[in-house]
Formats: sequence, C-alpha cells, structure tokens
Amino acid sequence: MKKLINPTPDELLDSAEAFIKEMADAVMIFVEGQQADRTRGIVTLLHGNEPSGLRAFHRWLKSGEKPICNILCFIPAIPAAIEEQMFRHRVFPGQRDMNRCFFPPFSDEPGKIAEEILDIFSDYQPECIIDIHNTSGHSPDFGVVVYENAVHEALVSLFCDRLVITDLRLGALMETTSRRCPVVTIECGGAQDDGSDGVAWKGLQKYLYQEQVMELEHGHHMDLYRHPIRLELDQESVVAYADSYVLGTDLTVPSELDKCNFGTVERGQLIGWLGGRQGADCLRVHDAHGCDVRDKYFEVKGNQLLTAQRLKLFMITTRPDIALSDCLLYAAAETEHEVLDT
Ligand SMILES: [Zn+2]
Repeated sequence: MKKLINPTPDELLDSAEAFIKEMADAVMIFVEGQQADRTRGIVTLLHGNEPSGLRAFHRWLKSGEKPICNILCFIPAIPAAIEEQMFRHRVFPGQRDMNRCFFPPFSDEPGKIAEEILDIFSDYQPECIIDIHNTSGHSPDFGVVVYENAVHEALVSLFCDRLVITDLRLGALMETTSRRCPVVTIECGGAQDDGSDGVAWKGLQKYLYQEQVMELEHGHHMDLYRHPIRLELDQESVVAYADSYVLGTDLTVPSELDKCNFGTVERGQLIGWLGGRQGADCLRVHDAHGCDVRDKYFEVKGNQLLTAQRLKLFMITTRPDIALSDCLLYAAAETEHEVLDT
C-alpha cells in the first residue's frame, strides 16, 4: 500500500479524480495534528463507486490546514474506482466486496488490503474510526452501527440524524468496533445525489476540528432504525428495472423504487414483478440468526411481490449488478423517534 505522510497541498493533483489516477492503488495518508498524541481514523472509497468521502478528504488535504488530532486515512478501492468508467465499479471486477473482508481469512487481494488496514490501525491506536460511503440509489444521509450506544450515535451525529442499528454480520469494517476504538459507517446519500458531497464535507470538518467527537450533544435527536433485514436474490437470477414486468426476468423492480428510501411504506407496497420460472424462490430474507423470515416481510399476490407489513425501506439499489451481488434493499419493521439525552 502506498503511504503519504504529511503531504503538502502542492504535492497533490487538483481534482480527486486526477489524484486517485495518479495513486493507481490503495493509499494510506497520515497527517499530523495539533495534538500529536491523539489519532482519529478515516476510511473512504471502500467501494469504488462511492466518491463523496474521497472528494471531501481530498478537498481538505488541498487546504493544507492542520487537524486537531492526527488523521490516519485509508482510500482502498482506488483500482475499482479508476477502472473505466470512473466511479462506476463497486468492486474491482472479479474480486470480493472489500467491505466484506474485515474478518479472516484474509487470503485474497481485498482481504490482504483489509488486513493491512487493520494492522496499521492497531499500530496507530486511533480513538475512533469513521468509514464514509454513498448509497447506489437515491437516498438521504444516514449512519450504520453494529451496537447502539451514545458513542456510536455521537460519531454518526457529526454527519446526519438517521441511524440504522444492524445485527447482521457481513465482514464490514464497522463490525470491528470496540470500546477502545468505536467504528461507524456514514452513508452520505446517493453517489449521484447533489447533497451528498456536502454532507461528507460538513461532517468531515467537525471530525477534523472538534475537540470531542464521541460525546453526543445534549438533547440531540436521532431517528433510529433497528435490526433491518436484507432482501437478497439468487446470484443466477435475472433482474431488471422497468415500469412493468420485463419478459424473461425473475424479478422486475419499479425504476423509481429508490424514492421509497427512508419513507415508511404500508403493507401492499409493490417491490417488483416476479417471473414464472422461480416465483419468490429467487428471494432470500434471513434475520441475524439465519432464520428465513421472508414471509414475515413480503408476500406474493399474482406475480406481484408486495410488502407484508408496514416497513421502513433503505439502501434500495437501482443497479441490477449490486442487487444480485449484494442485496436489493434493507427493511426494518420498527420505526422510532427518540431523544437521546445522555
Ligand atoms: Zn459502500
């Protein structure tokens, strides 16, 4: 992995795109802070099609300003990002999803990079780590954490007010969170959405310059979404996005389903039209214990796949390749608006 230590603004090419093309491979950047005995971690571009965090970090590096603590930043999926066309590929073709590789075995290429990131973090002992992403469909901003507590909530609240608490374990960086070093995921909104770069930029400023980032502001409101499930598809399925059933597909998803991201949908919301070959057998919905809970969340009427109860939907993708390789959407049955006052 390439390493840049205290790079000066004139050493860096002017645009984020030119910068990562020049780097060509995963890069680690260390910037010494005003308090050199404290370090905060950043990871961004773990997925090559999610540039908001990279753009914010690059813009800040060009400012040449000194952060309050040391900053240790990793930008791993540069090979995927610069593969034609720029910011289209979530993963490098043929490789595993980098954000599913943070637990052993670390044997393949993305696994080795994940292991190296974890090793270097363990040398530098950051007080916290944020991992900045975008969603592939249109979406508002939100955070994702694997444990619900005030420290995780405080870190997410630097960027946004929606928080998903998941007990699904996939091998993501945030799953390495600990009392010593909390780790959170920030989803800045859709990679194509106008506001997403601004969310990353504003949140990053707080993360770089605030004396404390792990104490929730008194009376701060967070919308919490607990224990979502993932709607997954058999990888051999054929998926399309259109406004009516596309012949030959196993599932056709309405083109603008991503408009439902973070909206509450009632029972009977259309998720898609199923093909005759497999019907609903191409769908997988498991809870954190691995139990099949498909019929609790979704039902089939004729060839229509519908929600079976009132749900919050999020991370709805509009990319067939991501729907197949990762999942079509997340859904949570529970919606709570709480005042976290700690
Ligand atoms: Zn991502």
